[in-house]
Amino acid sequence: MKLDGKVAVVTGAASGLGLAIARAFAREGARVGVADLDLAAAQKAVAELRASGGEAMALQMDVTDEAQVNGGIEAVANAFGGIDILVSNAGFQHLDTIADVSFENWKRILAVHLDGGFLTTRAALRHMYRQGRGGAIILMGSIHSKEASVSKGPYVVAKHGLLGLCRTVAKEGAAHGVRANLICPGFVRTPLVEKQIPELAARLGLSEAQLISDVILKTTVDGEFTADTDIAEVAVFLAAFPSAALTGQSINVSHGWNMG
Ligand code: NAD
Repeated sequence: MKLDGKVAVVTGAASGLGLAIARAFAREGARVGVADLDLAAAQKAVAELRASGGEAMALQMDVTDEAQVNGGIEAVANAFGGIDILVSNAGFQHLDTIADVSFENWKRILAVHLDGGFLTTRAALRHMYRQGRGGAIILMGSIHSKEASVSKGPYVVAKHGLLGLCRTVAKEGAAHGVRANLICPGFVRTPLVEKQIPELAARLGLSEAQLISDVILKTTVDGEFTADTDIAEVAVFLAAFPSAALTGQSINVSHGWNMG
């Protein structure tokens, strides 16, 4: 197993990409802290992982809450023996143009993605540095870490910011054997995207089928959605990679939507 003996925390792990990553990590032998805003959903995910033979614990964590983040990461380190891998994945989408978005919504999306990315990374790094056995920080970016789309301004800005966090942590973490990388998914049909499809179709005056073929998947090489399991396999690869040959990178997993 590729992650045997490792301890991982995955945020936003009760749904979508985070849940797929938690499943893959548990399958590969990691002990997994399943952190989410929604405790009941995190507990359900943990029950599923344990039923398949995995080791996992549920954590209620709002990634914008400094005390909950520090306390949650500490609880996993105490229960499972340190922290080796962080997947900072919790997030949500909000559709609005820059001209229309309220300051409140702007701040909320930056808080969950950027404050959340920072707080979880800082908490994990402090354990990794103290432990002295290296580690892997994996941030959940997006193709929107590299390009923009209309009506997604705050999200695009936040996801670009995570690229800067990843590169900084790659440089600062090197002396401690800590690697940092960013996964940049294309569209994956998680609850986040299922909610967005009708909303975006209405905004652009398209049917949902038109939106999917003419906007969402238009520039992929094969007209296919990315699967949650594709993202999970890349997370396992990044978590298990043995050296700093692979650090500070942003990996597109998008059926070729973006090749930069
Ligand atoms: P999802 O809605 O299925 O899951 C997101 C999870 O994050 C939920 O369980 C939710 O409760 C949790 N969450 C939200 N706010 C939180 C907070 N403040 N603290 C802790 N947990 C919180 O969404 P998803 O599609 O799996 O998205 C996961 C990540 O992947 C997000 O960062 C998203 O931006 C990114 N992403 C998704 C796609 C896609 O196509 N689905 C593409 C690119 C990037």
